[in-house]
Amino acid sequence: MQQIKARKTDLHQDEAAKQDQDTSKTYEVQKTKEEWKKILTTSEYRILRGGGTELPYINKYYDNKKEGVYYCAACGQPLFTSKTKYHSGTGWPSFWAPIKPSAVEEKEDHSLFITRTEIVCSRCGSHIGHVFHDGPKPTGLRYCMNSTALDFFPMNLSKVNTDTLSVLTKKD
Ligand SMILES: [Zn+2]
Repeated sequence: MQQIKARKTDLHQDEAAKQDQDTSKTYEVQKTKEEWKKILTTSEYRILRGGGTELPYINKYYDNKKEGVYYCAACGQPLFTSKTKYHSGTGWPSFWAPIKPSAVEEKEDHSLFITRTEIVCSRCGSHIGHVFHDGPKPTGLRYCMNSTALDFFPMNLSKVNTDTLSVLTKKD
């Protein structure tokens, strides 16, 4: 309760700070709204650029058990692999770790009554989901992602070095 009260008082300030941060942050892939709208579908745009969330269970990867790599659907950066994907029972694709720590960035999200940690792609700043602290070992984290924000490609992971996977250039 105390946390919520404190947050309400600071809300105005937080929002202002967040906006400043958003406009000053420059990503490797930087596009205008119009440019994003041209390369993304309506639902991709709503989630990736609008911070939206897709419906649970009615999405393409929540139950995908294939071996491979999940790329950012906006810029093609590799974000997750099937190695850290697990069945969370939430209806969204869930991972206990990203492909490497530098692939994602955390942001505070005040859009609901509780403060959540938003996950964005570190290359283009697009929203991909949220991270929670109720995941399995070894990290205890649950990266709850939107299928729409990801592009999956089947791959034999024992044959690729996931640290040096290149970016998919299809949408650059
Ligand atoms: Zn991206």
